[in-house]
Amino acid sequence: MRITVLAGGVGGARFLLGMRERLAQAGGGHELTAVVNTGDDAWVAGLRITPDLDSIMYALAGVNDTARGWGREGETERVSAELTAWGVGWPWFTLGDLDLGAHIARTSWLREGLPLSTAVERLTARWPLGARLLPATDDEVETWVRVDDPAESGRTIHFQEWWVRYRSSLAALGFEHRGQAEARPAPGVLNAIADADVVVLAPSNPVVSIGTIIDIPGIRDALRATSAPVIGVSPIIGGAVVRGMADACLSAIGVATAADAVALHYGARASGGLLDGWLIDEVDAALVPGIESGGIATRAVPLWMRDPATSSALADDVLSLAEAVRG
Ligand code: GDP
Ligand code: CA
Repeated sequence: MRITVLAGGVGGARFLLGMRERLAQAGGGHELTAVVNTGDDAWVAGLRITPDLDSIMYALAGVNDTARGWGREGETERVSAELTAWGVGWPWFTLGDLDLGAHIARTSWLREGLPLSTAVERLTARWPLGARLLPATDDEVETWVRVDDPAESGRTIHFQEWWVRYRSSLAALGFEHRGQAEARPAPGVLNAIADADVVVLAPSNPVVSIGTIIDIPGIRDALRATSAPVIGVSPIIGGAVVRGMADACLSAIGVATAADAVALHYGARASGGLLDGWLIDEVDAALVPGIESGGIATRAVPLWMRDPATSSALADDVLSLAEAVRG
């Protein structure tokens, strides 16, 4: 079976761990591909950083810091302290020493003229990940946020500054995905969607993770055209985000922080949208009829990915719903 998952960082990584586990239980011969958001990418201290790709790579490699929730396990920050002393980089954005190794390797390949997708292939070759990671695009697409700053309303800052420095305390007035209109899907992305048996929208941020991927010209059309069922998993449980600040992103685009609102935002494939199926949490079961009346087959299942068992059970629910939609 070929499974293609559109994914952001942490929510995407947790889901991919579960799907890898679920496919391993089913025996070999499966292909798991992640099409990963690049909207969080940035140039920092002369280095190209790709946070969502790295979160997924480290998680699948088992070298991530599970306590902190991001970055490498056993990380140190000696180089970062030196950079801060010189006033280089963003003082509020930690570049761990081990992490810097990946950033330097990536940037050196990019400087040689290689595309990001090749840099990702080389970085990920180091570990048996059990999944192929594809950046959504090789082109530089960066999310910038127009913020309601009392000092200067409407000024625009990089997504990382809004997310990490301000913890989204400045209200977002809107998002710009710079470079997106001219971007093309990375090699392999459109085929991974077209040739899949199941396509999944991971429980990732609908605006700045999944939204950034599907708005790259060509990707939405590929999702609409694939013969595979497209199944989404809600990142919203009981009207709240599980982790992170997706609510601040949703309100900026006028979508309620609710499992049904996000489903209707993606829309039913039968009526011009993207979804054939949608999974919501059991606490939201009352929303099932409303979402189904919008043309999206919906099931209420446990959506909290607490550990490998709950994550792989969720992956199993995705595959069951895909089967039901197909039949
Ligand atoms: P980021 O790039 O690191 O912000 O991560 P993603 O965009 O992949 O995922 C962020 C989203 O994942 C948030 O909106 C969370 O609500 C959601 N999320 C995190 N953990 C879980 C979980 O266990 N279950 C579900 N359903 N969603 C989760
Ligand atoms: Ca992200």
